Amino acid sequence: MEADRHQGRAGVLAQKSRQLEIFANSSPADKPTENPEVAKRVASYLSSRCRRPVRVVFTDNTSTMITVKRESDYTVRLHHMFSDAPSGVLNALAVYLKWPRHRASNEKLSRYIKANGSLIKPARRRARELTTRGEHFDLKAVYEKLNARYFNGEVTDEITWGRPLRGRRRRSIRFGCVDHEAGVIRINHSLDAPFVPEFFLEYIVYHEMLHCLVETRLSQGGRTLSHHSDFKRRERQFEHYRDAVKWQNENLHRFLGKRGR
Ligand SMILES: [Zn+2]
Repeated sequence: MEADRHQGRAGVLAQKSRQLEIFANSSPADKPTENPEVAKRVASYLSSRCRRPVRVVFTDNTSTMITVKRESDYTVRLHHMFSDAPSGVLNALAVYLKWPRHRASNEKLSRYIKANGSLIKPARRRARELTTRGEHFDLKAVYEKLNARYFNGEVTDEITWGRPLRGRRRRSIRFGCVDHEAGVIRINHSLDAPFVPEFFLEYIVYHEMLHCLVETRLSQGGRTLSHHSDFKRRERQFEHYRDAVKWQNENLHRFLGKRGR
């Protein structure tokens, strides 16, 4: 969650978290996997559907599942999970190639990618140290309480305090984020302070935990939406939601104005 001085409506903040990037329009430097026969078969299927030549390359990329270069021909780089996709998924792919904003096909592809997430090779994990015990708050305790109370214990990502930032004055602050690839929720270290009420820390942790469970959506323009209406509805289920938003609006300057420790 990110907050800055230029908030719009109370409580509606510029919030971001890292998401698995599903669609990309530029060609990333992903390594092709050897699967020329299947690639040819999928390509000819897509060609017949799109009525134009389609070239298919399978990859073992970790973050971008579909990349399309649209010239007179289409060049499609696909994660190898698509090598045995059912025809319904390939049809959705063909529709996506022609109409990238087509909603139903976007959703179908997103679901397929999600369902086959186990085939995505985990990104090389940084050696990481998880710190949950702070000076004032024990993140693990907060996390476990929320997981039991609101999420039926379904959140499996780990949690840690982020590293403290030093020195510079900040114009905006990210209170928390989820590294989906590493499976880690990071909470801004500046929340481990005596003036921060426990319900506010809980709200930030709750928000990030929600990101671990609620699927993102694609907007009409193909952008990933994290804070869509369903997310917001569930966010309001946090017991102290209104107090937390109010506290944030009234106290944001204390995080922004202050120099880091
Ligand atoms: Zn968020």
